[in-house]
Amino acid sequence: MALRTLESLGSLAGTAVVVRCDLNVPLKDGVITDDGRIRASLTTLNALLEQGARVTVISHLGRPDGKPEAKYSLRPVADRLSELLGRPVRFADGAPADTSPDLADGEVLLLENLRFDPRETSKDAGEREEFARELARFGTAFVSDGFGVVHRKHTSVYELAQALPSAAGSLVASELEVLDRLTESPAKPYTVVLGGSKVSDKLGVIDHLLPRVDSLLIGGGMLFTFLAAQGHPVGKSLLEQDQLDTVREYLRRAEELGVNLVLPTDVEVAERFAADAAHETVRIDRIEQTGFGADGIGLDIGPETAAEFADIVASSKTVFWNGPMGVFEFPEFAAGTRTVAEALTRVDGLSVVGGGDSAAAVRALGFEDAQFGHISTGGGASLEFLEGKTLPGLEVLGWQA
Ligand code: ADP
Ligand code: MG
Repeated sequence: MALRTLESLGSLAGTAVVVRCDLNVPLKDGVITDDGRIRASLTTLNALLEQGARVTVISHLGRPDGKPEAKYSLRPVADRLSELLGRPVRFADGAPADTSPDLADGEVLLLENLRFDPRETSKDAGEREEFARELARFGTAFVSDGFGVVHRKHTSVYELAQALPSAAGSLVASELEVLDRLTESPAKPYTVVLGGSKVSDKLGVIDHLLPRVDSLLIGGGMLFTFLAAQGHPVGKSLLEQDQLDTVREYLRRAEELGVNLVLPTDVEVAERFAADAAHETVRIDRIEQTGFGADGIGLDIGPETAAEFADIVASSKTVFWNGPMGVFEFPEFAAGTRTVAEALTRVDGLSVVGGGDSAAAVRALGFEDAQFGHISTGGGASLEFLEGKTLPGLEVLGWQA
């Protein structure tokens, strides 16, 4: 079944609409350091406002403990949202139940962080339904546009969509359209590049995508669990001992399926985990003969590996990339991530970057969003979608894979 889109709600002129956005932006000392998520929400909000809808925006920010905490307030977001929309945004810092749903003409209302109320993320469906009724006072229709949270069974994602006539906003619809292309009929060759810190976060994706891809390239911290599974020493590099058997099973299945599973042939090894640590390139076939066995920490893929990954990526028709190739936060160990990102910009076809840190990495390295086919705003949500899971926040909007 197809996702209900905005059009399914009919004319919204004069209607009060509640919009769930993902305005969970990074803040430093109360200042927004990346307003990408606020910008991503503008398309839907402007479309509703242009139709003459009266809009109340709801969101979470960070992980407060079910009670108000100043550092998780959405107030700075209200100011930025007002600037970007070019109209007044009234910020309600009280509980939703104590806030008047009445709006002046042309005004937008932003409610305070939903996670200040423990019922937003409660495990108890009854509590979530009760909170949903309080939020439903703010409109006669609900638009779900927080793609980053559609994998969560939270009040503002799930119960509220049941409490009011509901539809997906354009951000959710466009994210889904891209992710669906990655799982349904991806143009071949199809390459998936995985990195980041933990294999255990990515097992589901590997499992689900293995039969569908032509090449699977492994970098980041997780590569060391693969190397260890093949019997290589990995020093003090990130290693998930309890995943060795699973990883061996993936290596076996890849061979059986004829998938080109590519592991690094060289890695950048540091003396310790620090930005200024001494480091050298070590070839995997010589890893036993080097100092790597004892104290070395692998913090990036090596230049030969990066070049090989780049060749495979750039000659693919479909590429999905999740997880930095190294500790890109340290400039000395960002080269692998930069080389792979650059290759993605040359893909003649669909290139998708998914994952919070991966998106942050390409921006921090100076790439523009427009150089990629798509940068997903939701890390966990995009991974769970690609794992083939049913996402509650999409299912409730009529979506069925
Ligand atoms: P995403 O948010 O894009 O899904 P992850 O959260 O899985 O990505 O991983 C991002 C983190 O992985 C980054 O902070 C990066 O420093 C770390 N990382 C990458 N390579 C290594 C490595 N070799 N050792 C330790 N950490 C690594
Ligand atoms: Mg992350």
